[in-house]
Amino acid sequence: MTTMTDLEAPEARDVRSLADGLDIRTGAWIDGAHVAAASGETFPRVNPATGIEIARVAAGDAPDIDRAVRGARAAFESGVWAHAAPRQRKKVLVRFAGLIEQHADELALLETLDMGKPIRDARRVDVPLAAECIAYYGEAVDKVYDEVAPTDRSAVVMVVREPLGVVGAVVPWNFPLLMASWKLGPALATGNSVVLKPAEQSPLTALRIAELAAEAGLPDGVLQVVPGFGETAGQAIGRHPDVDMIAFTGSTEVGKLFLRYSGESNMKRVALECGGKSPHVVLPDADLDAASKGIAWGVFYNQGEVCNAGSRLLVHHDVKDELLERVAKVAERITPGDPLDPKTRMGAIVDQTQLDRVLGYIESGRSEGATLHLGGSRVLEESGGFFVEPTIFDAVSNEMTIAREEIFGPVLSTIGFAEEDEAIRVANDTMYGLAAAVWTNDVSKAHRYARALRAGIVWVNTYDAGDITSPFGGFKQSGFGRDKSIHALDKFTDLKAIWINVG
Ligand code: NAP
Ligand code: MG
Repeated sequence: MTTMTDLEAPEARDVRSLADGLDIRTGAWIDGAHVAAASGETFPRVNPATGIEIARVAAGDAPDIDRAVRGARAAFESGVWAHAAPRQRKKVLVRFAGLIEQHADELALLETLDMGKPIRDARRVDVPLAAECIAYYGEAVDKVYDEVAPTDRSAVVMVVREPLGVVGAVVPWNFPLLMASWKLGPALATGNSVVLKPAEQSPLTALRIAELAAEAGLPDGVLQVVPGFGETAGQAIGRHPDVDMIAFTGSTEVGKLFLRYSGESNMKRVALECGGKSPHVVLPDADLDAASKGIAWGVFYNQGEVCNAGSRLLVHHDVKDELLERVAKVAERITPGDPLDPKTRMGAIVDQTQLDRVLGYIESGRSEGATLHLGGSRVLEESGGFFVEPTIFDAVSNEMTIAREEIFGPVLSTIGFAEEDEAIRVANDTMYGLAAAVWTNDVSKAHRYARALRAGIVWVNTYDAGDITSPFGGFKQSGFGRDKSIHALDKFTDLKAIWINVG
């Protein structure tokens, strides 16, 4: 199990010296080679910690997506991967996972330079969990049996799972490698081909692992990676008539666009992992020491750029002031700094646009009457990077913008409550339903809250704990379909009934 809040975990190795010799892949990966975009266009990748350009990457557009989809389809139809024995796919995926581990320093460095997260987290969390995810699905796929339906003896009805064909995976920038792995693991294990479009802010690790997959023995065309912008490359995948499924992680707004693209094209299946505005509910009998750590890390981890960030703190009035003091104490240890320094616990916001959004939300909290309890400012501006300090608002009402909209930055909104039923009502009063937590030492109450909170995961006396065996995904407008766990295999397969008349 991994928790993000593990303050005592060993520090990452210092890999700053590797940065100079880093060979950054910049071409789209199509049919087993890095290639330029058909247009020849590129876009800059800027290190969010310095504002300095580190690479220019191929800007894929509709013709590149089409080329990638055609290659992916050809690979699928050839059966070289889709019809390979599950055990054979397992071997390749386990080797692929091993190569990710072997290149952990390089991949962590690419991730940190590209999107600003602390190298400590990239090395300790993102890279190992990505490798674990790929290995998990590889290892699972030769242990899953199909079914025989319980009909009468006049027939043998086999219920078999078949891969969908070409899967379009479109992922965000907050956990670029890990979100890609959550799609690639189950999609590839079940025999699909995948066209992956990383976010424009974070394509570098995807371009590198495509090469590692090939080195592991994944046949050409089975994994294509096309970097580019959402409105162009992303939309082209969404509307492509020969893509069978979209596996999307990103905002609710863009998730809805994919439903539209599907309806207006070939009714491709769509699985959506979208945003959240996840509540903590802290009851008066809670262990405030544990809660304060879970709450602080639950919203400040990864600069707050986490879909399941616990961004609304609902706390009983009796313990609110004490809890806030304790949360602030933990937050003071999570100071922003150079993401490449192995000691740094909070890195840079991904880009100027996101920085402006976060600062805009902080301003709206102030102007709508919330009380600023901690932080509230951009910091380290002289670095040229985009840093925001951990920020806590008190006296928030659930109607304020900072309680309703996903900020995707290090901002916690605190709402006091007096009655327990009120806490459940306010916690559920959101269009989202990704995650929630309840903090109490009363097991009956914990269970009652866990059932009443409308979210895909409810943590009790912890936050952001995760394991590849535990399904992850949303209720309501946080999306549908689950990543992780054995259940994710269902998403990438269709059931076929084969009816054999033996009567
Ligand atoms: P985003 O703007 O929705 O982008 C996600 C992906 O969609 C990117 O690859 C993006 O490409 C692409 N895209 C953007 N506009 C598009 C369009 N018009 N048509 C087709 N594709 C388009 O989200 P983000 O800002 O990268 O990431 C933050 C969001 O992701 C948050 O809402 C967060 O909650 C969510 N998230 C959810 C989970 C989960 O598991 N539920 C996990 C992580 C993040 P470009 O980058 O080129 O725009
Ligand atoms: Mg975007």
